[in-house]
Amino acid sequence: MDTHKRKLSILGSTGSIGRQALEVIEKLQDKFEIIALTGGDNAKLLNKQIEKFKPKYAYCSNPNELSGAKYASLDEICSDRENDIILVAVSGKIGLRPTLKAIENGIDIALANKETLVMAGDIVMAKAKEKGVKIIPVDSEHCAIHQCIKDISQVDKLIITASGGPFLRKTTEDMKRATVEEALAHPRWHMGKKITVDSATLMNKGLEIIEAHHLFNMPYDKIEVVIHPQSIIHSAIEYRDGSVIAQLGLPSMHIPIQYAITYPERYEGIKSKSFSFTEIARLDFEEPDYGKFPTVKLAYHAGKTGGSATVCLNAANEEAVFAFLNNEICLFDIYSVTERMMASHNVVQNPTIDEIFEIDKEVRTLTKENIKRVCSK
Ligand code: MG
Repeated sequence: MDTHKRKLSILGSTGSIGRQALEVIEKLQDKFEIIALTGGDNAKLLNKQIEKFKPKYAYCSNPNELSGAKYASLDEICSDRENDIILVAVSGKIGLRPTLKAIENGIDIALANKETLVMAGDIVMAKAKEKGVKIIPVDSEHCAIHQCIKDISQVDKLIITASGGPFLRKTTEDMKRATVEEALAHPRWHMGKKITVDSATLMNKGLEIIEAHHLFNMPYDKIEVVIHPQSIIHSAIEYRDGSVIAQLGLPSMHIPIQYAITYPERYEGIKSKSFSFTEIARLDFEEPDYGKFPTVKLAYHAGKTGGSATVCLNAANEEAVFAFLNNEICLFDIYSVTERMMASHNVVQNPTIDEIFEIDKEVRTLTKENIKRVCSK
């Protein structure tokens, strides 16, 4: 990075990734200038962040609650070409349009929002290519792959690791009886509720396969998932000649966030401790049990089908996760509900952004109806 401060906005600064990003920035204060912070419903925390980081603008759902910065819409923030990079850390489909707006304006993206690529990967990546915009992944697995790749044209396979979540050593029956608390007790990562439930069912890995396909333009049959309970190897790639390059580190989201917002530079930043192979001592690997975690296969199927299939997968899964968190269905039903919605979905190839949002809405309505029918039995 040259001596000028990198100008950065964070969409979703009050969420888990956004808060950790600000912890990174606090350590690298002389490297960054904050253009905008956005906080959805959490105006209280957002205002505290504004006081500390002094952004030019801020957005929250109720502008009256905002203090200390000028209000701007997500669209306005993503159209401000003063931004060198925008960290998209909002969760859900709300991230999609602002990300596209930023890409249209030639602003690089540090991407932590899964829906952007799962719902509209073809459109987003084509637009980024056209505008010469870098999309730097924040998700630890894709960040690992990004760090390993020198020349994508020589890469034969992506190997995505998965911790296996809290049900790795449990039975399918245990999963059926699982409480919300058990599903939220992830052994390795502290994250938002939705993604933590996705990690328990392994749908999170399924969504990551779809993201990896788009980010690295890799066919689905060249993306593999391996269970690695220690979460030390964050992912790996295999080159044409059989050489495997992996990225290792202690599990911490600060590191991939820092990598993405400072790329291509590296700083000590938030690093707390040096890596020790002997302290870690062993690394284990196994194949996923697709009987217990059929969501992964469902995601491969959606990805290979293409078009609106991944929109359907994402929307049905999210509604099912909400229903599980609401104690309306059991954990394993998240798969059954999503699978039923996928089976009845009429795939639209090459959907436009408007069509994607329409399909998303329609699938959500149908999913809720389906859950009500199944639960009232
Ligand atoms: Mg991940």
